Amino acid sequence: MGTGILTIDLNAIAANWRALAGLSRGQTGAVVKANAYGCGAAEVATRLARDGARQFFVATAEEGATLRKALGPGPEINIFSGHMAGDSALIGDHALTPMLNSPAQAARHRAALPDHPYGVQLDSGMNRLGMEAPEWAATRAELEAGPLSLVMSHLACADEPDHPLNAAQLRAFVQMTQGVSAPRSLSATGGILLGPEYHFDLTRPGVGLYGGAPFGAAQPVVALSLPVVQLRDVAPGETVGYAASFTARRPTRIATVSAGYADGLIRYMSGKAQLFAGAVACPLAGRVSMDLLTVDVTDLTEVPDHLDILCAHQGVDDLASVAGTIGYEILTSLGRRYGRRYLGS
Ligand SMILES: *Cc1c(COP(=O)(O)O)cnc(C)c1O
Repeated sequence: MGTGILTIDLNAIAANWRALAGLSRGQTGAVVKANAYGCGAAEVATRLARDGARQFFVATAEEGATLRKALGPGPEINIFSGHMAGDSALIGDHALTPMLNSPAQAARHRAALPDHPYGVQLDSGMNRLGMEAPEWAATRAELEAGPLSLVMSHLACADEPDHPLNAAQLRAFVQMTQGVSAPRSLSATGGILLGPEYHFDLTRPGVGLYGGAPFGAAQPVVALSLPVVQLRDVAPGETVGYAASFTARRPTRIATVSAGYADGLIRYMSGKAQLFAGAVACPLAGRVSMDLLTVDVTDLTEVPDHLDILCAHQGVDDLASVAGTIGYEILTSLGRRYGRRYLGS
């Protein structure tokens, strides 16, 4: 097989969900937007529903409709982007719950689907999504009189426990939701780790489910193993790859491996990332190209038929830091060409 093999461990995702649920004071949902951070929304959500998750979150109504087909009726599917123009049929037909972000969305929802449940997203200081305090004050009575299922907000700096915006957002959220009868939700993965005063009735972990920081105790979820297409010996002074950016300083063995920036292994990793043969690190030699990597395997006594880029020795966040990004982006960039293997489905 010429493609990389991406192994996704659903047992690890379920264990991470149970661990985050164990830390949470109230109920625990699961964020499965962006195809469950690249891990497969249908597979992940189906598994977590079996383990007891009842509230799922996605970014758009289109994602929600796809997820509903996988999950069937029952679990709540909440839409962060709310009720967008043109979404009424999707929301109505697939029993999706929009998180209304503005008075305009509230009016649209009331006009199109008056008896259909909704949540409200409040802006407690991130200034990205949600109603500002005066907008909420003006619409609250009317929204609370209908089938309001959740009042939520999102923390901007939860992965930095000492950032003063955390406490400021907590205060703002408490103030805005004083006396509200619907369940409240403030925390994603980072907020769960900030402590119980941030949890309210429902937490919404995403990245921690998939083994990423800031959930340091997470079990690793993804492994990525790439086939060696060919091996060659390169003499000192010869160069490797586009722009001839690697020059051999010694007699060098180069493995050409199938995967590249079209698979989410971004070009910025050129000359920086490592692949692994068991526990032995082998550096990239030269540029990442669209479909191929070239790897210096000179120090291996035997070159295996696959080299690992995500494995026990290099996790998602390790690779992210080499690539100047965050684990979230490594996960959501995982290529569609890989052969996907699920453990525990
Ligand atoms: C993505 C997202 C989450 C999940 O965040 P993680 O940091 O991945 O746990 C929760 N809530 C909202 C509003 C989000 O956009």
